[in-house]
Amino acid sequence: MSQVESIPAVARAHAHGQAPAVVASDGTFSHAQLLDASAAVASRLLGNRHDLAQARVCFMVPPSFAYVATLFGIWRAGGIAVPLCITHPAPELEHVLDDASASSVVVHPSFEPTLRPLAEARKLVCLRSDELGTSSHAALPQVDAARGALLIYTSGTTGKPKGALSTHAILQAQMRSIVQAWELCERDRILHVLPLHHLHGILNALLSVLYAGGCCELLPRFDATEVWARLSQSTQLTLFMAVPTIYAKLAACFDDAPSERQIELTRACERLRLMVSGSAALPVSMLERWQKLSRHQLLERYGMTEIGMGLGNPLHGPRHPSSVGVPFPSVQARVVGDAGEPVADGNPGQLEIAGPNVFREYWNQPQATAQAFTADGWFKTGDVAVREHGHYRLLGRASVDILKTGGYKVSALEIEETLREHPAVAEACVVGVPDDEWGQRVAAALLLRAGHSLDLVQLRAFCKERMASYKVPTLLVTPVDLPRNAMGKVQKPEVAKLFEPA
Ligand code: AMP
Repeated sequence: MSQVESIPAVARAHAHGQAPAVVASDGTFSHAQLLDASAAVASRLLGNRHDLAQARVCFMVPPSFAYVATLFGIWRAGGIAVPLCITHPAPELEHVLDDASASSVVVHPSFEPTLRPLAEARKLVCLRSDELGTSSHAALPQVDAARGALLIYTSGTTGKPKGALSTHAILQAQMRSIVQAWELCERDRILHVLPLHHLHGILNALLSVLYAGGCCELLPRFDATEVWARLSQSTQLTLFMAVPTIYAKLAACFDDAPSERQIELTRACERLRLMVSGSAALPVSMLERWQKLSRHQLLERYGMTEIGMGLGNPLHGPRHPSSVGVPFPSVQARVVGDAGEPVADGNPGQLEIAGPNVFREYWNQPQATAQAFTADGWFKTGDVAVREHGHYRLLGRASVDILKTGGYKVSALEIEETLREHPAVAEACVVGVPDDEWGQRVAAALLLRAGHSLDLVQLRAFCKERMASYKVPTLLVTPVDLPRNAMGKVQKPEVAKLFEPA
């Protein structure tokens, strides 16, 4: 078997040859050109070595063909790819460089002033992504699918981000599962607007589309006006994938457009065959708003850095609002009680996942890895879910979204859903605030719509008509924005700090 055939993502690029693979600010490139460019990257990374032998190569490259060529090149040289977030400040980057014990870094010229000093302080080889060359002269190593491939740093609710390591075989299982579930094929073309240091952007929107032989149109960053412009100009796009915050921003931009333009934008969405939402709970209000403006019912799915995609609504057939659907192909899911006992349908419990899609380990953290799995090998997601009529509904992360107040267990996500029904509320976030009397108090941080006001008395009156009294927030703040990470996901531990006494 030749070298390239042993890395699943690379082997597929051979099969797709001259078909377009990447359209980005640095040009339009076929799958064959991706093979040439990544071979050149690999040979530059190898220098006079034969195999990087799973050395970690951190790379800080914006969404572009150079990003994809670097990723494939690291794999083809036998290394483990560690994508760095292009908006992270130095301390976050240093944590990844040190924790992964990086052997070298690849940096785009625009990030060189930030990354090079950090690399040099660690005596790491620092290569520029625009100097990796175009021709390959080294023989590339044989890379087994059981080797480590991708190390993605994922923030927990406590402690520093941990590196979740997946092998080529695991990535292949994740890609295949997505390709099968969403029937991705060579006719697909995605408008890619997600960060490329996070699983959603790397696996769902990039690798799976390429694996199927499709094409990825990469925008350098998310910009609502630019996304609408691309969607309305292109007749070739078929797919769009994003997080709920992005859909909210696109909807706001749509609302600001004149009515004739809105008709064009709706038509642009109608030309797509699939629009997917995930990485955070999709508010039903957002689902309905999007359906009205785009004529698409968003397909909501649930996934995690450690498992790829776990649960999803169906491509064909009814999609249930506020449900994350059923297990992806080859994925197993179960809901268990605190002692690991099975929980009957309709009752909440911890969601556990098993299958060839589950990651291998937290990098250099055998204890955290052991704690993340049950004795019989299931991954403990840390999310709480309920299975209803075969479909799963998420109640949130056990650590931040499940509150214990006055002895009652309540789901922050459910309360948020109700709060969003208030006409003054644009976005709602509920957290538990420690309290001697209640255990935790239900605290709401609300972004208000322009020109609206809302105080705690009014909020409580609204809620009391709609939810049990113990779920009604007793604390309220109305900041101008909520603390978010690079994915736009609200950081609940930071939100809880808004309720700390000044
Ligand atoms: P990450 O590893 O950064 O992708 O974060 C994974 C976490 O995001 C999961 O453990 C869930 O808590 C959350 N998540 C992902 N998809 C959904 C969804 N559709 N609804 C609610 N939460 C989600």
